[in-house]
Amino acid sequence: MKKYSAILFDWDGTAVTSRKAPADEACAAMKPLLAKGIPLVIISGTTYENIAGGKLESFFTVEELQNLYLGLGRGAYQYAYTKEGRPYIFRDLLPDREGTLLIHEICFNIHQTLLRDYGFATDIVFTRPNYCKIDLMPEHDRGDQLFMQSDELGALKDKLINHGIQGGLQHLLDLAEELGEEKGMKVLSTCDAKYLEVGISSKSDNADLIMEKLRERGIKPENCAFFGDEYVGIEKGIYGSDSFMRTEITKVGDFFDVSEVEGDRPEGVQRLGGGVTTFLNFLKEQAKE
Ligand SMILES: [Mg+2]
Repeated sequence: MKKYSAILFDWDGTAVTSRKAPADEACAAMKPLLAKGIPLVIISGTTYENIAGGKLESFFTVEELQNLYLGLGRGAYQYAYTKEGRPYIFRDLLPDREGTLLIHEICFNIHQTLLRDYGFATDIVFTRPNYCKIDLMPEHDRGDQLFMQSDELGALKDKLINHGIQGGLQHLLDLAEELGEEKGMKVLSTCDAKYLEVGISSKSDNADLIMEKLRERGIKPENCAFFGDEYVGIEKGIYGSDSFMRTEITKVGDFFDVSEVEGDRPEGVQRLGGGVTTFLNFLKEQAKE
């Protein structure tokens, strides 16, 4: 297999089976690559505290940490490590308080519209840096498995139809855009079957901003691999959150999906399947001479 100059990857469902699963195995597979000077980039919707119990740096030496980056919070935060091995944010995309309140208001309007017009109940998680998570299936608990479950797509599609929403997921994305425009805000929304996330950035911003950092090190996107477990289309033309890593800048790289979920993937994404094991084996292969 091709040897890559840098590897960018999703965390939950790709490097670890669940957020609460120990990160030891993932970190052990990452370590030899970091030691060799191959940059690794975790791109995840979550926050630093939710990765390896907020102690990711403790798995690596200070030298290894100089090759580790994180793009978190759906575009909101880009992390690198100081020479002392402490994580720091080198670039953020955070709104001011008024901007935050506006995102909240738009999401509440989405909730109200769905409930008023269709009797479609949602929950909203407001405490995210620059977006809200609208839970489209509050009746369906993911437990510790925070990534998309294989039965969720069908359940959501049934729920939409049962509530008279004919336009599918696209209808929800259009509604978010429309209600955003009404408030003078251009929102970026994504959907992974359970959650409609509405905010001002996405994993595309993580990928592009960290790619800038990698370019400073002489690394080109065509020599990068991108791994995730959520590329699959929810419906025609709407792909999962990891598909956002594929941008105008990064699309010349190689994209791999470790999920087993059936469905359409964006152009250029190879389905490998095999989940976390596939990804960790890939890291081990890359570390070999
Ligand atoms: Mg994932």
